[in-house]
Amino acid sequence: ISDEKKPDKWVFSTCGYCGVGCGLYIGVKDGRAVYTKGNPKHFVNKGTLCPKGLSEHQLINSPERVTTPLIKKNGELVYASWEDSYKKVADEFKRIAKEHGEKAVGVISTGQLLTEEFYTLGKFVQLGLKTNNYDGNTTLCMSSAVMGYKQSLGSDGPVGSYEDFEKANTIILVGANISDNHPILKLHIAKNKNHPKIIVIDPRSSKTAQMADIFVPLKPRTDLALFNGLAYIIMEQGWEDEAYIKANTNGYKELKKHLQNYPPQEVVNITGIDVKTLYELARQFASGDSVLTAWTMGVNQSFMGTDTVSAIVNLHLLTAQIGKEGAGPFSITGQCNAMGTRESGFTSSLPGYRNFGDKAALKEYAAIVNVPVEIVPLERGYKYAEIIDAIDRGEIKALWVVATNPLVSFVNQEKLRKTLAKLDLLVVQDAFMSDTAEIADVVFAAATWGEKEGTYTNSERRCNRANKAVEPLGNTKSDFDIIVDFSKYFHGVHELLFNHWKKPLDAFNEFKEITRGQLCDYSGMTYELMEEHGGIQWPCNEDRPLGTKRLYSSDIPFRTPDKKANLICADWFPMAEPICSEFPLILNTGRTVEQWHTRTKTRSIEILDNLAPEAWVDVNPKDARKLEVKSGDRISLSSARGRVEGVVVRVTNSVASGNVFVPFHFNTQLVNALTNESFCPKSGEPNFKQTAIQLHSKKVP
Ligand code: SF4
Repeated sequence: ISDEKKPDKWVFSTCGYCGVGCGLYIGVKDGRAVYTKGNPKHFVNKGTLCPKGLSEHQLINSPERVTTPLIKKNGELVYASWEDSYKKVADEFKRIAKEHGEKAVGVISTGQLLTEEFYTLGKFVQLGLKTNNYDGNTTLCMSSAVMGYKQSLGSDGPVGSYEDFEKANTIILVGANISDNHPILKLHIAKNKNHPKIIVIDPRSSKTAQMADIFVPLKPRTDLALFNGLAYIIMEQGWEDEAYIKANTNGYKELKKHLQNYPPQEVVNITGIDVKTLYELARQFASGDSVLTAWTMGVNQSFMGTDTVSAIVNLHLLTAQIGKEGAGPFSITGQCNAMGTRESGFTSSLPGYRNFGDKAALKEYAAIVNVPVEIVPLERGYKYAEIIDAIDRGEIKALWVVATNPLVSFVNQEKLRKTLAKLDLLVVQDAFMSDTAEIADVVFAAATWGEKEGTYTNSERRCNRANKAVEPLGNTKSDFDIIVDFSKYFHGVHELLFNHWKKPLDAFNEFKEITRGQLCDYSGMTYELMEEHGGIQWPCNEDRPLGTKRLYSSDIPFRTPDKKANLICADWFPMAEPICSEFPLILNTGRTVEQWHTRTKTRSIEILDNLAPEAWVDVNPKDARKLEVKSGDRISLSSARGRVEGVVVRVTNSVASGNVFVPFHFNTQLVNALTNESFCPKSGEPNFKQTAIQLHSKKVP
């Protein structure tokens, strides 16, 4: 860096994009963020960053930023004061609550906020606005992992550490293209001195599959049958760990009976994977000293997502591959603070992983925060897709969308747009002018990463500090300040919930007390300790002052009433939307390393946009020949719900014949115009990964 450009200071922080949670420094010159560099001492990334992390400072000064609150007048969003914006929204929320009940207000948040902000938002929405129709965009990516862990182990919470990638003898990656989506995780695999066997299970030969010793290209959405089949073989061969099962699990007999429906030949027929490979995979679980299975959206984004997660956990329980170094069923999270919302956010659980429906937990929470127990919701309200349905039915009249962009990320876009038009009020709180913000009635202008402070929790339960490097742009405010200030427009709410709260640390301190004694125990953490150690993994308390590397070792029992894990009988079903003569191909969607989610943050970062400026469709050579298309041609895609025009073709063997792949980031080629409304009944997560479509090489009128 030349003297002229040299930052005046470097501010310790954490990347605000993905769940890997890389440590970094933000370089500040003359009050502007001008550089980002990796923190060489940080355990997670040892000074490295991916392209998004390296250019992250640029998002702060993006031309796409919303710099002041906006109110729609005569069909146009115009500049407004904070006071007018708050008043308009508060008046409308109050009117709707009076006329239709408090639950007629819905809220959809995100995995992008800081933990302190999630906690503050959830508390305000559930105890202040008194609506439990509150969920996050984390339901679009992580909720199957949450519910799978809960039904199998008694609690949410990824069990392992990145250190396990360095220690495992066998690493199984399922539906996880970490090369694009969690690139810095690969460093930990590279550090593994055991020369681990790497197995990649995925219908698509992604960049990650290129590093596999064994690549298992199963047919789309047959993963649950595969895992049941492996469990069958483990039992058939007597490879299970009887002593561990007896001491630590429930449901062995029932599972054994259930698995009779998944003998090898049946699983071959369902998955397309040969018998020899099935036995080899099962043998890995039984013979490896340490087996780590890591997965992401390929597993979670499924109408059988929760049960697929449990089928993976079954394999680890049967073979005692859990609670020890290098082993465990490890759900990798998507967003920078997907974990924070799971721990604190009032979405899938009450704060601190207390369960909805548990009256004692409810009472305990109310006592800690000093609120009447009657105002704490006993039950979870609608999940994301149920909120959308309730808007469609006219039951929810106002929606507050915080730092997420459903108008690119949710399924069946044409229907969604029509549904959102039915609202009396749409409020969007965001730092960027998203597609959803464009149709809002009011926009709350938020500060972004680097302009505010708090903590993020990464995939390995490591709580990291994210510091403020520069002042919020223009007339924006941190999400913490927006929520706390907004609460003053509701009689008595601010006094009850946020009395004396001045800064995120106040929320953090309350949250620490709420987690004391829980699995996600933060009680031993301080901001200073996090900075000193490059983050701390919960549980962290007096007994574990520097945190905990992995869950469910001998001194951390499972979180079920009898402290035994549940072996779950999970059934495989064929796809909800089978291919047909009209729509004969299966569309798979995913991401690319250069872009982030719906591109609100990355589309104006020149280097990233130059690297990946638009969507493309991967087509197998056989299908390309049939369609008479070649790489570089533009074609259209259609499904029973919509059509996407002008997508560039890449002819490649990375997808099998009959399958295509398109990244979902781009509003210019809106692939979620095609996807269907099929959801996991337990988690509410959409089945983004398989949609029956047709390709059109010529324009069809
Ligand atoms: Fe940020 Fe994830 Fe890239 Fe690390 S791997 S720099 S956390 S986006």
